[in-house]
Amino acid sequence: MKTVGYAAHSADAHMVPYHFERRALRPNDVAIEILYSGICHSDLHTVNGDWGPQPYPLVPGHEIVGRVLEVGSAVKHYKVGDQVGVGCMVDSCQDCDQCHHGEEQYCRHGMTGTYGSKDRIDGEITQGGYSKHIVVREEFVLRIPDGLDMSRAAPILCAGITTFSPLRTWKVGPGSRVGVIGLGGLGHMAVKLAVAMGAEVTVLSRSDKKAEEARTLGANGILVSSDKSAMKAASASFDLIIDTVPVKHDVSPYSPLLDVDGTLVIVGQLGAMDEFVAAPLVMGRRRVAGSLIGGIKETQEVLDFCAEHDIHPICEIIRPDQVNDAYAVMSKGDIAHRYVMDMSSLSVE
Ligand SMILES: [Zn+2]
Ligand SMILES: [Zn+2]
Repeated sequence: MKTVGYAAHSADAHMVPYHFERRALRPNDVAIEILYSGICHSDLHTVNGDWGPQPYPLVPGHEIVGRVLEVGSAVKHYKVGDQVGVGCMVDSCQDCDQCHHGEEQYCRHGMTGTYGSKDRIDGEITQGGYSKHIVVREEFVLRIPDGLDMSRAAPILCAGITTFSPLRTWKVGPGSRVGVIGLGGLGHMAVKLAVAMGAEVTVLSRSDKKAEEARTLGANGILVSSDKSAMKAASASFDLIIDTVPVKHDVSPYSPLLDVDGTLVIVGQLGAMDEFVAAPLVMGRRRVAGSLIGGIKETQEVLDFCAEHDIHPICEIIRPDQVNDAYAVMSKGDIAHRYVMDMSSLSVE
């Protein structure tokens, strides 16, 4: 199938139109016309080569929403016209313990990423959602519930599940005290999801500039991390802190904020971190942990949860030819919304 997208041809992250082919349908494949494609901060890191060398040309994008165009002969759960989504993975071994209990992101043999990975069957490099069409095996296709606005659902497939999964893993519910560091794409979803689960949510930020925004999202307020006396007064007052900061930073100022047995979960940064002081961890059996997206079953859960609670990411809709401008804004710092591309202006002809 002929298609078109936006690809990076080198590590300068400049996107240009790119014509390429999607594979012919295998029996268990679903062909999707992409309607909306979210732009994730990790797309920028990846195409920049920040996380290692990449197989260029590379079409990024792993927040994909669209409509089923065609299904393979063995597809059971989808039919032409269904509203569907694709997130950060398009395949895994389907046979190890992690895959069996629905955590394909931790597949023992490595999951296949939506872009820049090797297809498990033909070895072709996978290409992502900044394109008009995608072909994905049905086990990795999600259903977009009717209650969600298609134009604003795409970021749930990465920003949503990345924050939902640790909230579920650490059993956040009514009365849980949750802190969220950073109020960008991930952080604003963490606040909305934790509030909907009944938690008391506080945003941790370097200044009080985002106090109003935090309250609008449902947080109780903001804790200014540069305010030493406020930080001291807040010691031992959180059960869980979601750390969404996507660059190298120091967790030491935050760990004393955790109550005994509390956990700080890193979801934004993959590279090096600053040295940290162990004492607050030892003295309170506190933990620093990490978490990667979520499994397919849990990704369907977050989509259904968002539909049920009327949670939508804050999106700014742009055209695909504006992607380079969006990257320029994103590389300057965190923005409290997601850019989502409306793919209707992209044509294969
Ligand atoms: Zn992402
Ligand atoms: Zn596996």
